[in-house]
Amino acid sequence: MTEKKTTIVTGSTSGIGLGIAQALAGSGMNVMLNGFGEAADIERMRAELEASAGVGVAYHGADMTKPQEIADLVAATRSAFGRIDVIVPNAGIQFVSPVEDFPIEKWDQIIQINLSSVFYLTRLVLPEMKQRGWGRIINIASAHGLVASPFKSAYVAAKHGVVGFTKTIALEAAQHGVTCNAICPAYVLTPLVERQIPDTAKARGITEEEVKRDVLLAAQPTKKFVEVEQIGALAVFLCGNSAAQITGAALSMDGGWTAQ
Ligand code: NAD
Repeated sequence: MTEKKTTIVTGSTSGIGLGIAQALAGSGMNVMLNGFGEAADIERMRAELEASAGVGVAYHGADMTKPQEIADLVAATRSAFGRIDVIVPNAGIQFVSPVEDFPIEKWDQIIQINLSSVFYLTRLVLPEMKQRGWGRIINIASAHGLVASPFKSAYVAAKHGVVGFTKTIALEAAQHGVTCNAICPAYVLTPLVERQIPDTAKARGITEEEVKRDVLLAAQPTKKFVEVEQIGALAVFLCGNSAAQITGAALSMDGGWTAQ
């Protein structure tokens, strides 16, 4: 029997990260979960995933703004499962404000969580992947890694940075069996997006349904939200041998947004 592969999915206590963790566990990988939340809820999630997928599932609460805690997350994964084959840097936050009012501490926090943590994690696991001659780095960027929207300067800058970092690592790892790609989804109805709806409705004097249709999905030609299961399935595909020649790509999953 071959040893199971292991993945770290950052920000996997919610939304897209949780969906990807479930999909990768379903494909037979051990999973290290990460992210914030109530300890009891996280433990329930961890135990359910372990039981349903029949793989090892562990949790580490490293804060993605702290390189030392990320090093600790990597060490804990190695000690739980003995290896790291796939990483999915996914943790991310959003903050919306005109640039002249954008709080400096919010800017710094978004750059750290959404961009620098991808570097902090990648640098620690790439040597092991190269040495084994196989690895997958799947960065969760955004349509905002390819195009901009107003009032999201830090987020758009960080996500464009992730796409650039992805290309660089793809080149550095190209001859070692390690691929590095970015998935660029449009809006997915996760807590990160749901939190923006009431404020936007209030600010624009429209209903929450109108916010979804006329604001969030305005740029999405299909007029449908992307689903976490669809992103999870793409992550699983990227881990297979069929995807061995896909590297350095920014893969849009955006209902046609960036085709316009
Ligand atoms: P979410 O708010 O549902 O989940 C975010 C996760 O990140 C949570 O598990 C949270 O605990 C974790 N997290 C936040 N700060 C952290 C920190 N400092 N350290 C460790 N973990 C931290 O958000 P989501 O919508 O699932 O977003 C996940 C990723 O997908 C983000 O990078 C986001 O930018 C990207 N994305 C989201 C959408 C969307 O429409 N929801 C679209 C494109 C890209």
